[in-house]
Amino acid sequence: MTKDRLLKFGIIADSVCDICLAHQEDHHHLLYSCPFSAQCWDLFKTWLNINMPLAGVLEWGLKWRCRSLLKKQVVLAAMAALVYHIWIVRNKCRIEFQIPRPCRVLADVPATARLHRMFKT
Ligand SMILES: [Zn+2]
Repeated sequence: MTKDRLLKFGIIADSVCDICLAHQEDHHHLLYSCPFSAQCWDLFKTWLNINMPLAGVLEWGLKWRCRSLLKKQVVLAAMAALVYHIWIVRNKCRIEFQIPRPCRVLADVPATARLHRMFKT
């Protein structure tokens, strides 16, 4: 659960993002608009050489028309892996108070994307 939901249920007292400490944490902020996440997505787009909008990136991925079904599957798996790793960073940040560099997060995406594809088929 993101902090906005935990706050809504009275489990926590504030919903400030643990990564940037500047905005309220909801799923959109955490996964896309947090400066850390936005840096990760910028690196991701450069890595895959794909021009995708940051706003609505998942919707873009689902509607993306690509000539190669395999390429689309790989990109979608990599997107899911990046979301997973941003979530892991958020959880580690709450416990260990450490934020890895975005390039370190991107380095873990390929291996996770391969696992994701393996379990999906
Ligand atoms: Zn943030």
